[in-house]
Amino acid sequence: HSVYGIDRWGKDLIVVMDNGDVGLRNPLAPDQPPVSLPEILHDLEQRDVHVPMILRVASYLEHEIREINDSFAAAIARTSYRGSYRGVFPIKVNQQAQVVDRIVEYGKPYHYGLEAGSKPELVIALAHRLPGEALIVCNGVKDAEFIRLAILSRKLGFNTVIVLESPKEVDTVIAVYEELGMEPMLGVRVKLTNQISGKWEESSGDRSTFGMNTDQIVAVIDKLRDAGLLHCLRLQHSHLGSQVPDVNDVRRAVGEACRYFTELTREGVPLTHLDLGGGLGVDYTGEKKAIENSINYTVAEYCSNVVETVAYAMDEAGVEHPTLVTESGRAVVATSSMLIFNVLEATLYDAQDAPAAEPDDHHLISDLIAVNDYLRTDRLQECWNDATFYRNELRAMFRRGYIDLRQMGRAERIYLHLMGRIKAVVAGSDGPTDVDDQLESLADIYHCNFSLFQSLPDVWAIDQIHPMVPLQRLNEAPDRRAILSDITCDSDGKVDRFILADGVSPSLPVHTLGEDAPYYLGVFFIGAYQETLGDLHNLFGDTNVVTIDLKPGGGFELLHEQEGDTISEVLAYVEFDPTDCVAAFRKMVDEAIAGGGLKAKDRRTLMAAYRDSINGYTYYE
Ligand code: PLP
Repeated sequence: HSVYGIDRWGKDLIVVMDNGDVGLRNPLAPDQPPVSLPEILHDLEQRDVHVPMILRVASYLEHEIREINDSFAAAIARTSYRGSYRGVFPIKVNQQAQVVDRIVEYGKPYHYGLEAGSKPELVIALAHRLPGEALIVCNGVKDAEFIRLAILSRKLGFNTVIVLESPKEVDTVIAVYEELGMEPMLGVRVKLTNQISGKWEESSGDRSTFGMNTDQIVAVIDKLRDAGLLHCLRLQHSHLGSQVPDVNDVRRAVGEACRYFTELTREGVPLTHLDLGGGLGVDYTGEKKAIENSINYTVAEYCSNVVETVAYAMDEAGVEHPTLVTESGRAVVATSSMLIFNVLEATLYDAQDAPAAEPDDHHLISDLIAVNDYLRTDRLQECWNDATFYRNELRAMFRRGYIDLRQMGRAERIYLHLMGRIKAVVAGSDGPTDVDDQLESLADIYHCNFSLFQSLPDVWAIDQIHPMVPLQRLNEAPDRRAILSDITCDSDGKVDRFILADGVSPSLPVHTLGEDAPYYLGVFFIGAYQETLGDLHNLFGDTNVVTIDLKPGGGFELLHEQEGDTISEVLAYVEFDPTDCVAAFRKMVDEAIAGGGLKAKDRRTLMAAYRDSINGYTYYE
């Protein structure tokens, strides 16, 4: 199992057990043995909960919230920082009620708050009781309705901060303030000029679409001062972009944010909170490098860098240490969800046995069979070339009508058998061979029960890599390599980049599928962004979602089950009324009976088949 590099990326949460199962370790009870993931699935199967599913591990969410808050607290204590940390969770990163409710619950001891980037997200935030010092930070474009609700919520004791994104927004705030006669709690979003590296580099720097430049900020301060509201401006916000790979980019950006903070303070703005946005990344590949899908720092290092940079800058400028706020979402939720699905079947790119020669074989088929005679380690490339040449000639003859279907079928199988023998020679040889680079073109296709577009949209859209591994048989050496194909009818619906112990690979080591036993694969760290970004391509809907807790005394507890979309639900999303669909089908059945094309007794079977489908799961059952 060392081929998968689980020790490297698993964060000690995902581990391999002695029996070859992938196990979940409980970071809140590190002495307990891990819980086998296949056993959890077996247990859920018995309760009639099936794959594909998202499995949420509430204990991981609790662990991540503790980790970021404890790390900030430790850095604050170590640096003698004279302020506290009051993080907020950006709802956009995972808006699911099961996730947000738990984040609020686990965050209570830390006065952990919420960030809302839209009206619906503010509505979610305001449906939660937050502890005294917790913030609700409102980012994004805001109309009067949004601002009105944010201001009024202060009557219930919420610390709702309206972060001004543009000079125009100030006018709306002033108008709503005059209408309500109630003061807002304000923030201002500055656009840092430092640009970070990585996938989200366009979220930072001059061309970032968010935040205000120095000139605009000066205009905002003047407007607020004129309106008598400057004393309401308490928070300064900036955001670097998600998944910052290099911690030194964090330092530079925090340094620049501090310059704004100290300058604004000098201008007489009574700022108390410095909000540094998101950016804290997840090491999806476990490489610990400043490259895509990885990061070169830990949560604790990130926190130390932030606290030290702010302390130094504020001391130098003689400014009080502000309350620190960050809006880390990815790092808080990514590890807590995993996607689990089964393999439905495999298209193999080799064959165990080959048909024997027949007297009336075309001579090209005989030539193909003859390649077997000289297939040896030192002639692999030659055999590959010859076999491919004969097979391609035969295909050309088939297209022109000189070879029939059965002969062509025999030729394809002989070819795959030769490829199987080449793979076996490569596997058995100690050193490199001359066909090593070409073997990827012989990777199998494992057809899997999930939709890439619904469940892993970032893998499709932005080349995100999530660790993926078979969940069982990891004490057996994987004997095949495969790419994964999803259940949609779209050739883009495939995964062909995998993180392994020695780097990114175009195929995944897998086992030969057994006759009966299901073969499960797990995709890890998918808690951030994937669920709501996913779409209904081919009308594959939400999967089942199960939330579990790893119990302190060992084992697991089922906390919540959310059934995936039924076909009738996805039909409704695209404005089909399922009742109308049933009625239309029934009408066609009745007309067929009236016309004599269908027997009356078949009506029940046809209607039952239609109804079973419409009420069923959108995935392979
Ligand atoms: N805050 C704001 C304003 C954002 O735009 C985002 C997302 O990019 C976040 C927080 C979350 O950041 P992250 O994905 O780094 O957790």
